Amino acid sequence: MRLDLNPILHRPGEKIPFRVELDFSDVDFFGQTPASTALCLEGTVRNAAGALTVEALLSGQLEWVCDRCGKPFAETLSLPVNTLLAEELADEENEGEIVLIDDGRLDVEELARTAFILGMDTKHLCREDCAGLCSRCGADLNEGPCSCEKEGDPRLAVLRRLLDES
Ligand SMILES: [Zn+2]
Ligand SMILES: [Zn+2]
Repeated sequence: MRLDLNPILHRPGEKIPFRVELDFSDVDFFGQTPASTALCLEGTVRNAAGALTVEALLSGQLEWVCDRCGKPFAETLSLPVNTLLAEELADEENEGEIVLIDDGRLDVEELARTAFILGMDTKHLCREDCAGLCSRCGADLNEGPCSCEKEGDPRLAVLRRLLDES
């Protein structure tokens, strides 16, 4: 969606509120596509003394698969999207911090998509201290220790040695 900013482009003090639903179900994070339901970008474009600013919030429900234990989990997304807008770049140094508008129009979807991609962590854990899976038996260690842990038990080690010898 392209938001028409012409009504406030040259009118300091004016603002345009907006709210868009966005389908980002195709946005891929290393094989995961967490935005299976629509996200929402809601905010305001302001002309503050001639400078255009966007203050918005990208929100919705994300569904990830835990990097450690492989279990699906939900995350409530609440990502601030704040940026400056300009009709053209005054100097190259600000590139990246300023979003260009074209013909007085802001591509809201592109803005949200970029913020979404840059705003996600590289790791996705069902919880901070997820214990993950046992590398030997694949048991979910969040549900308690698996039987592999008993390998450190000296009595079992002796038993195993006896079995190996026989
Ligand atoms: Zn996990
Ligand atoms: Zn195990």
